[in-house]
Amino acid sequence: MQSIRTFYKVGRGPSSSHTMGPYFASLKIKNLYPEANRYVVTVYNSLALTGEGHLTYQVIQDTLAPHEVVFHSMIDVNKHPNTLMFEIYKDDSLIDTINIKSIGGGEILINDATNEIQTVYPHTTFSSIKAYCITNGLSLYEYVKEMEGPEIDDFLYSIWNYMKESIASGLKHTGILPGKLKVVRKAKELLNKKIEDETDDIMENRLVSAYAFAVSEENAAGGMIVTAPTCGASGVLPAVLYYMYQKNRLSDKKIIKALAVAALFGNVIRQNATISGAVGGCQAEVGSACSMAAAAHASLSNMFIEQIEYAAEVAMEHHLGLTCDPIDGYVQIPCIERNAVAAIRAINASRIAYFLSDSRKISFDMIVETMYQTGLDMHPKYKETAEAGMAYFYKKTTQ
Ligand code: SF4
Repeated sequence: MQSIRTFYKVGRGPSSSHTMGPYFASLKIKNLYPEANRYVVTVYNSLALTGEGHLTYQVIQDTLAPHEVVFHSMIDVNKHPNTLMFEIYKDDSLIDTINIKSIGGGEILINDATNEIQTVYPHTTFSSIKAYCITNGLSLYEYVKEMEGPEIDDFLYSIWNYMKESIASGLKHTGILPGKLKVVRKAKELLNKKIEDETDDIMENRLVSAYAFAVSEENAAGGMIVTAPTCGASGVLPAVLYYMYQKNRLSDKKIIKALAVAALFGNVIRQNATISGAVGGCQAEVGSACSMAAAAHASLSNMFIEQIEYAAEVAMEHHLGLTCDPIDGYVQIPCIERNAVAAIRAINASRIAYFLSDSRKISFDMIVETMYQTGLDMHPKYKETAEAGMAYFYKKTTQ
């Protein structure tokens, strides 16, 4: 498996596959061909259908500026759902054509290259990681540190700082999010809307939701966020971590350990399935985020490795089949609210795992395989096309 350094990425939203991936792709092209002065960019499939709402065209244009960019959009079911074809010109001559896939979480693949992927972990399944940890008496965090090297802490501290900044920024901002849906930002309202005689349960729900809304609204506004594992699902993990951090006055060191554990589970999903909504539906994005957050919560609750695994498994299991249907292609409805619901669900999954892990029958690896196959079987229109589900019915009732 790859390093978790390639997993958590810091960048601007609203979409890791539709904004961040195309940004990195355009930057790569620009650096490879500094002499180019004109580009023809063809965006395919999901990118073509939801590119406008996800700011795909804008980010490509801005990155390749000041040169001319001509866009085409096409559907080709034989291509990866998020394919970009760059035709690169110097003066009037075509000097190269490069295909790039945006495979989720901001990752890109150039001309089907696999040699760029550097392996850091010898294990590719959670069961093999668990066996190694048990044999060697390691916690999951210690395992990550052994594989990545001690400097991984610095990386995790910086990721945690970015997450805290996203929450702070999201809780400060009010007003309307960009785009034609005119969605009102709600994070600050949720934070301050303490009701009379509020119970601990309601307060927990309100605060966790406020933090998830804060990050997701920052993402929707094109603000700076961390992919966890994607932009669209970036609110779930920080919400759970920040709630635990505040409530239990935890140290930053404790939080970065949980961040490492969460990344490990996300990395297994990326390795054996997908974290892209265009490939596997929202179960691959918010489902994965929920799984990571549940593992982090269980780790912060000092649970054993079996309990942590069970928490991550339960969190994914109950997102199976979840479709991706962002209205008008904006990562706003259902995405923002969905992040909050998944954050609460992650805590719930962790608490179930605390009591019941010894009687479980489903492993994390099995649920990842199930999620992937479910995603492959899902009708393509439910995978980030904005042509089905709520996106379809919303359009139907508002036109
Ligand atoms: S519905 Fe889920 S997968 Fe689709 S854009 Fe929103 S958060 Fe991402």
